[in-house]
Amino acid sequence: MPVHALHQHPPPWPGWVNVENTLRCNLDCIWCVQALVGSTKSGVDMPLALFDRIVDEVLPHVSRLSFSVAGEPTIAPHFLEFLDRVNTLDLTTELVTNATALHRPGLLDRLLPRLGLLIASLDGARAPTVERIRAGAQYSRILENLERFQAARIARPSATRPEFLIAMTLSTANIAELPEVVALAARLGADRVVCSWLQVHDPMLLDLSLHAVPGQVEARFAEARALARRLGLGLDLPAEPPAVPLGLAARRMLGHLGDRSRRRSALRAALQRARVRAWELRSGLEARCSFLWGRVYLHADGHVSPCCVQGRPYVGNLGERSFQAIWTGPEMTALRAGMFDGNPHAACARCSQGQGPNPAPVEAWTEPVQNPLDR
Ligand code: SF4
Repeated sequence: MPVHALHQHPPPWPGWVNVENTLRCNLDCIWCVQALVGSTKSGVDMPLALFDRIVDEVLPHVSRLSFSVAGEPTIAPHFLEFLDRVNTLDLTTELVTNATALHRPGLLDRLLPRLGLLIASLDGARAPTVERIRAGAQYSRILENLERFQAARIARPSATRPEFLIAMTLSTANIAELPEVVALAARLGADRVVCSWLQVHDPMLLDLSLHAVPGQVEARFAEARALARRLGLGLDLPAEPPAVPLGLAARRMLGHLGDRSRRRSALRAALQRARVRAWELRSGLEARCSFLWGRVYLHADGHVSPCCVQGRPYVGNLGERSFQAIWTGPEMTALRAGMFDGNPHAACARCSQGQGPNPAPVEAWTEPVQNPLDR
């Protein structure tokens, strides 16, 4: 029955799109899957012609665009041209960056007009820790670039001022510095620190996992929570609801109402949520994974995938079919059906989106799902 309903009622267009504008990266982080398999050095950049097609075919219907996932978006040769194209559209962008190239001439000027969120990865508060984890990075350059970004951000009117987050991947190599990262983020002017557990995708990373040392974790979490409260900084710790200072989200939302492009983008996001709800009512099914029903990843070589979870399938290529045909095609339908028929794709079976509140054990992640296209 669910599969029949899925064929009868194609889901609405996704609201959030990730464009992998490059697979390359200028760093070799010790736990990065892509650095381990070598694609950050041998990988491709998205050609301008493919991005232009995405601009025409996909982006006019979405509210949020995020750049890259496997590589460092800011080093791609065509990135500035991509931003010029995006600045003609009514959408909001997100950028996850290692912050090593934000000083690239012309980048901040082109990035800021549509930017809604910048997430800078910073896995420590001291130079030796950061430079050991993010091999190839220069700590002083990262701080300089984040100060430069903050100065440009606060110079903008509040209606177009993006959110600024510091992201920290927690491991035995850096948990001791969590409170210092909170203090550093406050000094840099960030809005929030967002922490996630290190995902152990390879047995050689087991020593870095905090699963084995919960005692160390709670003491640092308590210190970081108290400091963040005192400094008025948001702090998201794994397995806890986000702690955003009261009123911050509301102030940001109201501020954005002053900008026409951001108003339109927010309206489109609200419509997408309403369309998913309408789809649920029509089909009698529940949208069980926010990616399968609302997000999509467009890769540098034209491949399309539903998410960035290791082992996820690729569901088509923009060089062979239209985006609409892929989004509602048999591969995506089979993935959605797997959420209901007890036979999910192997990646979905161990994913928190597919499983609800019970995360798969560490061992599940150290047994890779076979996918020849995984990069
Ligand atoms: S359940 Fe997880 S692995 Fe499957 S499509 Fe959704 S996010 Fe990706």
